[in-house]
Formats: sequence, C-alpha cells, structure tokens
Amino acid sequence: MATGTGLLSYGLPPSVLAEGRTVVAGMRVRVPVRGRLHVGVIWRVAAPEDIGCPVDRLRPVDELLDDAPLMPGDLLTCLAFAARYYHAPLGQAVRLALPAPLRRTGVKGDTADVRTRWMVSRIDGLEWPTGLRKPERRVLERALALGEVSVTDLRREPDPLTGGSKRVAVPQKMLESLAERGLIRLWEERVRRDPLGMRTPVPRDTPPALTGAQSQVLDTLRTTALEPGLFGGFVLRGVTGSGKTEVYLHLIADALARGQGAIVLVPEIALTPQLVTRFRARFGDQVAALHSGMSDGERLDQHGRVRSGEARIVIGPRSALFAPVFDLGVVILDECHDSSFKQQSGLRYHARDLALVRARSAKAVCVLGSATPGCEEMALVQSGRLTLLEMPERVADRPMPEAFVIDLREAERLRDPDDDKRPSLLSVPLRDAVAATVARGEQVILLHNRRGFATTVVCAGCGDAVECPHCAISLTWHKRQGRLRCHYCDHSVDRDQPCASCSGRNFLRVGAGTERVEDTLRHAIPGVRVARFDRDTATGQRMLDLLETFRRGELDVLVGTQMLAKGHDFPQVTLVGVMLAETGLRMPDFRASERTFQLLTQVAGRAGRGDRPGQVLVQTWAPDHPAIMAALRHDHAGFLEEELRKRRMSGYPPFGHLALLETRHADLKRANSAARWLSDSLRHHGADARGPVAAGVAKLRDVHRFHVLLRHEDRATLHGQLKWVHGHGTKSLPPGVKLFVDVDPADFA
Ligand code: ADP
Ligand code: ZN
Repeated sequence: MATGTGLLSYGLPPSVLAEGRTVVAGMRVRVPVRGRLHVGVIWRVAAPEDIGCPVDRLRPVDELLDDAPLMPGDLLTCLAFAARYYHAPLGQAVRLALPAPLRRTGVKGDTADVRTRWMVSRIDGLEWPTGLRKPERRVLERALALGEVSVTDLRREPDPLTGGSKRVAVPQKMLESLAERGLIRLWEERVRRDPLGMRTPVPRDTPPALTGAQSQVLDTLRTTALEPGLFGGFVLRGVTGSGKTEVYLHLIADALARGQGAIVLVPEIALTPQLVTRFRARFGDQVAALHSGMSDGERLDQHGRVRSGEARIVIGPRSALFAPVFDLGVVILDECHDSSFKQQSGLRYHARDLALVRARSAKAVCVLGSATPGCEEMALVQSGRLTLLEMPERVADRPMPEAFVIDLREAERLRDPDDDKRPSLLSVPLRDAVAATVARGEQVILLHNRRGFATTVVCAGCGDAVECPHCAISLTWHKRQGRLRCHYCDHSVDRDQPCASCSGRNFLRVGAGTERVEDTLRHAIPGVRVARFDRDTATGQRMLDLLETFRRGELDVLVGTQMLAKGHDFPQVTLVGVMLAETGLRMPDFRASERTFQLLTQVAGRAGRGDRPGQVLVQTWAPDHPAIMAALRHDHAGFLEEELRKRRMSGYPPFGHLALLETRHADLKRANSAARWLSDSLRHHGADARGPVAAGVAKLRDVHRFHVLLRHEDRATLHGQLKWVHGHGTKSLPPGVKLFVDVDPADFA
C-alpha cells in the first residue's frame, strides 16, 4: 500500500527474487505512485495466481527497504481496523506506526535529524575593549554572570516589574561579531533532552509482598495469561493508592518470563516520570519510554530498541499503542478513563478501543486500570466482554482521605467584608486548613482548573468582554506576563490596549485563574511557600524541577490545573483543596458530570498517600450536584449507576453511538450552509442528525466551525451513514469547505 486510500499491487523486482530475500507483510518498500516514489508498507504477499492480474502488467517495486518486518501482524490488524472504523485512508493509519524518518523515501537506517541550540559563554580573562555598543556590553555582562547560556535564555531577561521575564533583542549577527572578536565563545550544541531521566541509572527494587487483593487479582489475570493463545480483557477498578501499579509490574514480569513483551499506556507520560522510574527499577534497560517532547531521532532510536527486542516494555501516551512490540503478551491502559486516550486531530482514534483490538489479535491480556472507570468501560463489563477486577482498599490499611464540602453560599454569608475582599475564592475554612497543614510541616495541593489571573476581561464602559480577534472566545488576563492571551490560538495583546468597541480604558477582571489563587493565598497566609503548576509554569524541564522542589519539601503549596490531579505520589501531601468543584460542569458536553466526578476523585486521591491520613476540602456553589456528592463519598458504583441510567434515557454512549461531523470555512455562511445541507440530506436518508449548531468555539484561527451530530443505537447503521457522508456527501460540499468526521467524539468544543 502507499499514500492513496487503499491497497495497491506491485511485482517484486527480479533482483529481490534472485537473492532469495524474505518478503513478508510489515516490511517497507519504495514504490512508484503517480510518477513519484513513495514509501509503502507491504500489506500482503500473494502468489501470482491469486492476484487476478497478469504479473507482467504489475509495476515493479523500486526497492525493498527492510530485511525484517517493522510491524507485527497484530499491529497490522489493529491499523486495518482503525482505518475501517474511523473511516480513514489506510495510509493515514499506517503512519501512526511509522516514525517520521522511516516514512521518507531513501531513509534506510538511522539518519535522523537532531535538535540543536546555540550556546554562548564569555571568554574569561579578556580585557573589555573600548567602543562596545550598549547591547553588546549587556550580552557580555550577562554571559559573564550566567556562565554557559543558551541564546534562547539570553533573549529572556528577568523583569523586576512583573516578576516574570521579558524578551530582549539579541541578534545572531551581533553574537557572531562578538565571537569573531574573541569576546565570547559561540557554538552549536546537540540538545539532549531527558525529561524522564532515562539516562540516569535507577537502582533495582525488590517487589513487595503482595496484599491479599493484589494476589487475588493477579491469580485471575494469570489464569488467563498462562493460557497462551487466549485473549483476556479486564477492567481493574482500584481506589487511588490500592497498588494497581504493583499489579501491572507483576503481570509484566510474567510476560517477560514467557518471552513476551508489554505496552503500558498512560495519560501524559511527561507528568509521571515517577512511573517510568518504578518500571526501570523493576526491569532496567528493558524499558523504552516514548513521549511527545522527543525529537524524530530519539523516537527512531526507541522504535529500533523495541523492534529488535532489546526493550520489551514500552511506556508512553496513546501513540505508544502502535509500538513494534513483537510477541505482545500484555497491554495496560493506566487511568483508562482519561480523555487524553482519544486523539483529537488527524485520525481521531480512541486508544482504549484500539488497545482491545490489538490485544485480541495478539492473544494478549489487556487491563484497563482506574479508580474511576467510565460509563463506556463499565458497559463493556456489563455486556460480558470485559471482566471486572476490584481493589477497594488502599495498601497498608491506609484510610481513604476524608472529604468535606465547603458550601460557598454559606461561606459568603459568614464572611467579614472588611477582613477579606474575595472570600468566595478562598473561604475561611479552607484558608485555616491550609495554614494549619503548612504549620505542621505538611503539604497542600490546590486544584483550580483555569489558567491565568482572570478568565474574562470586561470593559467597564460598554460591558463587552475582550475577545480574541481570531477566535470566538474571550481572552484570559495573564498578570505576570502583562498580557491578554487566547488559550486556543495563543494570540496575545498588550494590557494597555483600549476597548475595541468603545475605546474605554477601564476594565474589570472577572473569573479567577490559578494566578489569582496563588496571589490570594500569598496574601491570606503570609510567608507560605507557594508555586503554580499549569501549562504556563510547568513545561519540560521546568515542570520536572517544580515537582522535585515540591517533593523535597521546599514548597508548601502547589496550586494547579488538572495536570496536578493525575497520578502524582507525594507522601507529604495531607490536604487537597478544590477551589471550585463545578468548574467543569458547565461544559456543553454529556460527559461533563462524569469528567467532574473523575477529576475530583483523582485529585482527592493525592491526599494521605504516606503515613499520615489525608483530608479533602471541596469549595462549591453547587454542593448538591450528584457528581460532587458522589466524589465526596468515594462512591464510584453509585455514581455510575445513576449516570448510566441517565445515558440510557438520553440514548447517549454507551447506549447509542455518535459521530460528529464538522464543517469549516473562513466564511461563516458557507460553513453553516454546508453543515445544514449535510444534516438535511442525512435526515432525508432517515438518519438521526442533529444540528447544525456552531461549535463550542464557533470560530478558531479565523475559521468558522459548525457541528452536526449523528446518533444511532446500532453501530453498523451509523457506519453506513458515515460511508454515505464520505462517498456522496463530501463530493457535494461547496468548494473550499472542509469536513472532519469524528467517530465516538469525546470533545464538542
Ligand atoms: P495505585 O497505582 O493504585 O494508585 P500504587 O501502585 O502507586 O497505587 O501504590 C500506592 C503505594 O503503595 C505506592 O507507594 C506503592 O509502592 C505501595 N505499594 C503497592 N503495593 C504494595 C504492597 N504490596 N506492599 C507495600 N506497599 C505497596
Ligand atoms: Zn484565538
């Protein structure tokens, strides 16, 4: 196959046949397609009599690129399923499993691009010449102060006014001229990123004696896994801190002992370097870790290690499912409820569903682990397709954290207006609990799922919210950066711009973000050591440093977005505070309630993981909401029962199947009329098509977006309708309108 929509047939060149080389599915070839050479993957090898076309009419393969397959058969099956199920060209599915360098014609081995950066250092012991220009002198002073510094960092200076940093112009030309005069050393360096600490050796650990629950779960898993040639699919529901990871480690050790490999999928691997360390402590160099910060070259290296069998265990985000593990024995999805397992662009696959497909094809064991498996996972249990395993208690008799609600309506009535101007942000009980925890030398996590300082800025003159000029969304005020920023396209404007509608200059900042929580806390508890953990402050190395600083106890409080709720294990955290529990409930999404329940349960699970018990305080204006109440009671079963009942009544997944059609065009009318035409035609054909409605973000990067939602109880019928959309539907769209189809959509923004 090649870049087209389906399979193409080619003849093997006489040279390959003469050399007697092995040719099997999963190897790459270079083949001509429409006059150009492309890299393709052999899908099937057929004898001349089986292809229904005279052999001499076949175009020959230009070159066979591999001596061994790059993909095992179960991966090929999984990709074929993905192409069919998500209505995507097979070539697009295959790309998921091929690192970029292997997709280029002519690339055979390991030629790959490497990230580099420019570095500067001041050459010591030199007199400063006269006649230096001011910016040059500035560079020399800073290089002297900082030692070796990257040019990127040189272009960022601390800004005493905002406490953040500001950009300064340091032209490459100026640096080159300073280097020529022998005043600085300027060189290009290969960037060695190591966010997961893979280059630091990890001492081996000894597996702990298993708890009763862990042994029981493993027994059940082994009965299946020990029977080679049988697929087994499981949901492991274990409360936070019940020792699920230890179960995965044992299961994988079994697989290795049988000569098999494993894939472990995690929501955001960069957030859990600890997990990788735990796997390396058990399995050493047999672990390969993939993550989004990797360069093409690094990815290719890991791909090679896995393919050769040097690394038998792959840990990574959803895309790690397509790693070339031959003889796959175990597939694990940790935190299987997490929405990051659904890809939101390109081929919009769900890693949970494809993991089950791949495991079935490989006759492997698949475990979906979570404290809060979602409706869809539990429906697979109820229909008998997956087996439920349970670990209802924490290890070592550690209690679940006690959770309390702080009714903000009550707190508002009780507040002393002279004492605190913004009590609804930080109530007195939460403030006191934070202060007491910090005074005991323990740590606090505060969840607030909004970045920036103010989520909306309103003109006091005309009442208009300041919107992004490119997107239909209001801008967020980032105080440290001194800018208003669009969280969708990253467009930003200076703080001093007048209102676009009335030229007013007086703005109200409403809706608090993490920055304001941080400020409020500093003000309310003098001397508290607090840092923010969100996408503004925690990326790459800075994120790891921040987590390490917190772990060492050099910070008392971390204020963060949902990034902070996932998987972290800080034994000193005994208090978790939720600033506003209903934040996610207002989303126009039928999963809003479920997501809120899961987020609250996850973040609560960060409390009391060490020797001391934990406490959770949840601030909310909606204390009676079922999702909030159930999370406070740690009542997963109860929440699900109620949620599944609602889904059944409304016909939403898992009781009905959905596909989201999105039309896009720079012209609003065109995008809208295309969507209207689609929904009318589909309804005409008897489909349950809803809409069109403007997308949650109705305009994104100057492109207007409309949604049509297709729903049906019967999956096959829905897919028949999608076939029509892809065949007839796309052909009849007005020119320039783009159509995106999302099967089993998870995001309606
Ligand atoms: P989960 O993944 O379910 O949140 P973990 O596997 O991270 O739970 O386990 C929670 C803590 O308990 C970890 O610090 C882990 O090392 C420890 N732990 C797990 N299993 C055992 C055991 N059998 N005996 C002692 N400690 C254990
Ligand atoms: Zn924007």
